[in-house]
Amino acid sequence: MSDIINILPDSVANQIAAGEVVDRPASAVKELLENAMDAGASHIQLIIKDAGRTLIQVIDNGCGMSETDARLCFERHATSKIHQASDLFAIHTMGFRGEALASIAAIAQVELKTRMHDNELGTCILIEGSTIKSQESCNCSVGTSMAIKNLFFNVPARRNFLKKDSVELSHIEEIFKRIAIVHYDIGFSLYHNGKMLYDLKAGNLAQRLANIYGSNYSQRLYPVDEQSDVVDVKGYVGKAEFAKKTRGEQYLFVNGRYIKHPALSAAIEKAYSEMIPDRFYPSYFLSLKVDPSRIDVNIHPTKTEVKFIDEHAIFAILRAATKKALGQFSLATELEFNPSTELDFTPTPSNYIPQQPQVHFNPDYNPFHATGIKTATTKPHYDQEANEKWTNFFEPLAPKEVELPLEAPETLAQTTLTIEESAVDTHANGVCFQLQNHWIISSIKSGLLIIDQQRAHERIWFERLSNQNKHVAAQQLLFPVNCTFSPADAEIFNELIPDLTHYGFEINKLTQNTFVISATPTDLKDSELQQVFDQMLIEYKGSMIEKFCDRDQSLCRTLAHQMAIKNGQPLQPAEMQQIIADLFCCKIPDVCPSGKKIMTILKENDIKQFLS
Ligand code: ADP
Ligand code: MG
Repeated sequence: MSDIINILPDSVANQIAAGEVVDRPASAVKELLENAMDAGASHIQLIIKDAGRTLIQVIDNGCGMSETDARLCFERHATSKIHQASDLFAIHTMGFRGEALASIAAIAQVELKTRMHDNELGTCILIEGSTIKSQESCNCSVGTSMAIKNLFFNVPARRNFLKKDSVELSHIEEIFKRIAIVHYDIGFSLYHNGKMLYDLKAGNLAQRLANIYGSNYSQRLYPVDEQSDVVDVKGYVGKAEFAKKTRGEQYLFVNGRYIKHPALSAAIEKAYSEMIPDRFYPSYFLSLKVDPSRIDVNIHPTKTEVKFIDEHAIFAILRAATKKALGQFSLATELEFNPSTELDFTPTPSNYIPQQPQVHFNPDYNPFHATGIKTATTKPHYDQEANEKWTNFFEPLAPKEVELPLEAPETLAQTTLTIEESAVDTHANGVCFQLQNHWIISSIKSGLLIIDQQRAHERIWFERLSNQNKHVAAQQLLFPVNCTFSPADAEIFNELIPDLTHYGFEINKLTQNTFVISATPTDLKDSELQQVFDQMLIEYKGSMIEKFCDRDQSLCRTLAHQMAIKNGQPLQPAEMQQIIADLFCCKIPDVCPSGKKIMTILKENDIKQFLS
């Protein structure tokens, strides 16, 4: 039998390797930005077209490359950053495997222009699918410009896998922020389709955060600065009251590199325990400095995971440093804002004669004759009008059965109510009450109906919003509210305005990133609007990334989730009755849009059995 093993040509090997290093435009951005920083640049420009599909260009003023290096840098394992295996234990640069450019050149058309400080002329190289198309001397500024055109031009599968521009752009923006936040001593700018999204001047971390998140942002933060033998921790942690419902603003860096480390994140969050509610997350921007030889270098360069030899110690130090920042500084500001601890007390005039307190009572009051109170000896008094309203709630459905949703899991069948079952228990007088600010309990003919208030309200809003034929009524705000987003989010938000208008919002664009909200579909508090939209964008982007989901459905679901009353919120009887009434007018009253059960019935027989 003849030999069958081939050595793959470099171009094929590079294309395979590229799959690992570059899976979307944002990962090419990361590699190019890191190379520019390794080259010692003090200013780096990132120019993007069509969310990176057609152009990703990084221009730096770093050391540049010689003519030979300019050609060599596209070879696999071509790196200036390590020379021998032992160098691996003292990595101070971003890259070291010499793979990125070879990979990128295998799947794109690349134009490199580079010049070293002492050379008069620079080098320009065109390379496409690993093949050098041209190399010549050129006039260019000191430093390097690397332009990646038509990424994945020869890998249609990858190209087709890319998400909408707004999603790819937000990935790029996130990578840009992860790098720009920790390298605040370098100037960065980001352009997309000719528009400048960020222009970040070199400065300190506080200035960098203010440039990215807005000038008032520093008021939300406490500084952290701790040195120890194992680790130095520097940066900012967010004040507890500004905790968010997502982990969006959590940035942890080690030796200048963004990392994800669930245990260390938990250490920081632990420092906030009992200061912020469940499922709220603090913001933080913390930079750790650790001896590189105490970090496991055998990690993939594109991954964000890191292993520390001294993990336990770092965990403890990080938690203590955060606690200290929160404790120390919150006390300090507390004192600043309450300079006087004396009671606010106005002395009474000397001729003032105090009046004796009066107690008023009704001498005819007899608790056993009061209305609506059930006792063994008196019959309850019914409020006829309330009772009629309550029974009317179920009228639109009568006499058909409440349908089980098609997509609902089978087990939910048990909760399907017939009108007969859900009919009001007239003895109970339409009374419902709230259990632990979480469940609405109501007596129905067949037993006890238990409704999860948040899920029920989510379902109600979901059906209201997803009704294509009916605009949701808008309520004008007395004072319009401005909402501001990051440039990439603002683009997505702008695209969503027609949908949001259908849902009862009235929105106008004020500036590139700021929108004025003048009406909302429900009595959302002004202060909640920004949060609702921030959360909506996060969930919307998440659902568009994770699955190919229907855009309207995804929007309605997130908004419904945002606008629903929450568990933990006390409700008035009238509010509870309204929820029950609205819920039973829904097409699918049993399950909330995320597929969870809304209600259950404790049947009379079950109760009897429990008590037998
Ligand atoms: P790595 O960064 O792991 O060394 P890359 O493929 O990213 O591998 O880059 C290969 C080499 O090309 C680098 O080691 C560096 O010497 C050179 N290089 C890449 N980008 C630049 C740049 N912007 N300025 C100067 N040199 C660069
Ligand atoms: Mg590199």
